[in-house]
Amino acid sequence: MRKSILNIVESIAKNEGDRIAIKSTKGQLTYEQLWQQSDSLALWLDNELGGNKKPVMVYGHKNPQMLVCFFACVKTGRAYCPVDISMPKNRIEEIAASIGNEIILATEDSDINNFRVVSREEIENICKTEPLADLRGKWVKGEDIFYIIFTSGSTGNPKGVQISETNLSNFTAWSSDMVREKMNLKEGETVNFLNQAPFSFDLSVMDLYTSLSLGSTSVFLDKKLQQDTGAMFDYMRDNDINCWVSTPSFAEMCLADRSFDSKMLDKLKLFLFCGERLTKETAQKLLDRFPSSKVVNTYGPTESTVAVTAVDITDDIIKNNEILPIGVPKDGTKIMIEDEEIIILGDTVGKGYYKNPEKTDEVFSKMKYTDGKEYAAYRTGDKGYFKDGNYYCTGRMDFQVKLHGYRIELGDIESNLMLCSEVEQAAVLPKYDGEKIRNLVAFVKAPSLEGDFKDVKYLKGRLKEKLPGYMIPKNIKFIQSMPITANGKLDRKKLEAAFL
Ligand code: AMP
Repeated sequence: MRKSILNIVESIAKNEGDRIAIKSTKGQLTYEQLWQQSDSLALWLDNELGGNKKPVMVYGHKNPQMLVCFFACVKTGRAYCPVDISMPKNRIEEIAASIGNEIILATEDSDINNFRVVSREEIENICKTEPLADLRGKWVKGEDIFYIIFTSGSTGNPKGVQISETNLSNFTAWSSDMVREKMNLKEGETVNFLNQAPFSFDLSVMDLYTSLSLGSTSVFLDKKLQQDTGAMFDYMRDNDINCWVSTPSFAEMCLADRSFDSKMLDKLKLFLFCGERLTKETAQKLLDRFPSSKVVNTYGPTESTVAVTAVDITDDIIKNNEILPIGVPKDGTKIMIEDEEIIILGDTVGKGYYKNPEKTDEVFSKMKYTDGKEYAAYRTGDKGYFKDGNYYCTGRMDFQVKLHGYRIELGDIESNLMLCSEVEQAAVLPKYDGEKIRNLVAFVKAPSLEGDFKDVKYLKGRLKEKLPGYMIPKNIKFIQSMPITANGKLDRKKLEAAFL
């Protein structure tokens, strides 16, 4: 029978509580500590919030206490919403206002206004109290929402993707079986997972919950370490990373260092990728430098709980394909290609966007598959096809892009540029270097500005108030008029041809 992540972790905490659930530069946490501390925090939280069942924002970065907070929320029957420190204050406050809960749990210092921010010190003190009861009857279960992850929205407001307990359990049942099989794990054998992506990205769900499902250790790699390659590699080696989970972009950054190979990380046996295209070049380099490791390409959007397909990338696959396949769907998932678009059907398709029925209705629905049965369905906006036993993802049908692994709606940046009163028109284009986007360039029509260095700085400054750093275009170019198509729309092709 499918077990919920709470049931799994409880059983490990009770039977092998000394196992390390999390390691980080900020300390570690055993399964028993995770369980007990989250019980204490859950009791406190439930008491404070009473009948208010709204989700709870958890703000911070790679602190083991964040996981205690996640568990505390779901033990009270409330979804959690992870927000990383890379998010600017305005955007955090926007998300907090949309969530609408008066309490925010923050493991990092913050200057969020208008909410009751419970600090790390307070959280730690609450966690020290004896949990006098457990809230078992209140736990998030079944179709209840387990977490909400906000992603870039095309109109300038982020969208909160809601994932239920059932969605998450269906995903982790698959991902943990996959890791067991690919790594040939014996019964009870545990591994060390690399946890690189911030918790506000659903890629982090892949390693965090797969690791917990396997009673393994999640090794948190924080931002500071990621900025110091030498220290980061030492940390990975010291923590005996066995299973690597990241975007291809992050692995490419590591590959730029010649010493990144199987001599450095001799315990590394499996690379799991998701979130953007894995290029043949990157896959080949990894197979060459880590000859006894497997490289697996997985595919999926946040809206369908991290990933729904997977395939082992071998030398043969690289040799025989133009682009790498994304593989075959997991049990419980069906894929349909309709007018070139990939549609995902099945048991990990989420519950729509938080408080946004309009956007939800555009892409979430129920659809009949060829077996005659009806499934929850999500229109991905990805283009793809099926060939020789594998699915392939070839790109987007809209203006969503991936830059260094981050999901960005170009419309999000454009809408925020348009909020500057000086800007009459704005368009943002990706600048490619081969298959990969290297950076973003914004084009603005702003006749009242001079268009010099000072104005570029001013507009970037305005954007920084609203958007995380990775969404700020590298260049802003001022133009007199935007090229227009015959039916009056912005002509992106002409803009690209003329200026990029
Ligand atoms: P996110 O919700 O941030 O995980 O982004 C999901 C999107 O990333 C998908 O809709 C795809 O456009 C892209 N994506 C995810 N995995 C892959 C992959 N293996 N290959 C190509 N694109 C991918």
